[in-house]
Amino acid sequence: MTKPLAPTVAVIGGGQLARMMAEPAAALGIPLRLLAEAEGVSAAQVICDQQVGDYRDLDTLRQVTEGCTAVTFDHEHVPTEHLKALANAGLAVRPGPSALVHAQDKGVMRAKLAELGVPCPRNAIVTSLADVEAFGFPAVLKTTRGGYDGKGVWVVREPADCAEAFAAAEAAAVEVLAEELVDFRRELSALVARSPSGQAAAYPVVASTQLDGICHEVIAPAPDLDRDLAVQAQEVALTIAGALDVTGVLAVELFETNDGRILVNELAMRPHNTGHWTQDGAVTSQFENHLRAVLDLPLGSPAPRATWTVMVNILGGDTDAGRLYDGYPHAMARDPQLRVHLYGKEMRPGRKVGHVNTYGDDLDDCLERARHAAAWFRGDLGNESE
Ligand code: ADP
Repeated sequence: MTKPLAPTVAVIGGGQLARMMAEPAAALGIPLRLLAEAEGVSAAQVICDQQVGDYRDLDTLRQVTEGCTAVTFDHEHVPTEHLKALANAGLAVRPGPSALVHAQDKGVMRAKLAELGVPCPRNAIVTSLADVEAFGFPAVLKTTRGGYDGKGVWVVREPADCAEAFAAAEAAAVEVLAEELVDFRRELSALVARSPSGQAAAYPVVASTQLDGICHEVIAPAPDLDRDLAVQAQEVALTIAGALDVTGVLAVELFETNDGRILVNELAMRPHNTGHWTQDGAVTSQFENHLRAVLDLPLGSPAPRATWTVMVNILGGDTDAGRLYDGYPHAMARDPQLRVHLYGKEMRPGRKVGHVNTYGDDLDDCLERARHAAAWFRGDLGNESE
């Protein structure tokens, strides 16, 4: 191969986030090198410089990052000690291991946020049923590591509900975190990008709708959000990014309580589902700003391009009625302004296989168009709607 014209960035994990990083990487002429968990996974379909291997194996990580300027991630599951070993060998690990551990371990995250004075749900590490009883029902139990999309989260209302969480934690050799069950009005997300030089860009705070722990819909900006609360949410995200020395995108998932407060739910240190709207709705997408931050380039503007942007995920339905590519003629003809992003994944029940974005001045119109398109691809609408 000819010598790369720009520094190469290694990306660990071949999911849709890595796939979507490839788009701005191509535009900016930044070569990516991928470590994929299996052949043909989402990002492996679009990043040609790739290797298949196990991200839990240090030698594999060393091999794939050789000659790269920086390494970043599609997911948060690379063992902290491997990240430290790569950093010690001189590689720019972004985000670095001491920052990333707060997105990997909910116990570590809660302790740190308490130290920073960031508002969180009441919480405690619990090691027994007696501990949960002392904490009080109802509660939410979470495994401290390894959870995603609602896996590893249990709402418990009585002692009998707790066994599953403790069994899962024991099997995975992790701890159990108890949190108060927050009576929230809605979920918000504050996304910032931060570069190693300390430059930061804060995106408008968005509202997200989760079903069964999976993000379904995002509205940017969050409708009717009190201005002071929006500013507070952005400040919280910037404070966390700075205090933890985050490099790249940080997503802070928040609860807006019914009495007008915000509480931090969790952190993600990579492009996030609640930031997919930025691909079509912001001057610079979260994927581009993540890459810029990873390479310590000046960040792009996070300003919105339209009054409203709506993102709706395309999830596999219960049947195999879904139509992805086959859904294009109707979806594209019905709405020439629709923006479609598919991940190259097969439809499976509950699986995120893509998303659509709409933008404009009328929120109801944006919602209708995005929901219709997502339902159409999912296969929930019959031919009568054509
Ligand atoms: P994951 O790591 O799977 O994303 P989260 O901690 O974000 O797990 O929890 C998944 C979902 O469960 C949240 O989006 C929220 O809807 C609900 N949830 C989590 N923690 C609480 C809580 N303390 N009170 C109420 N609901 C919660």
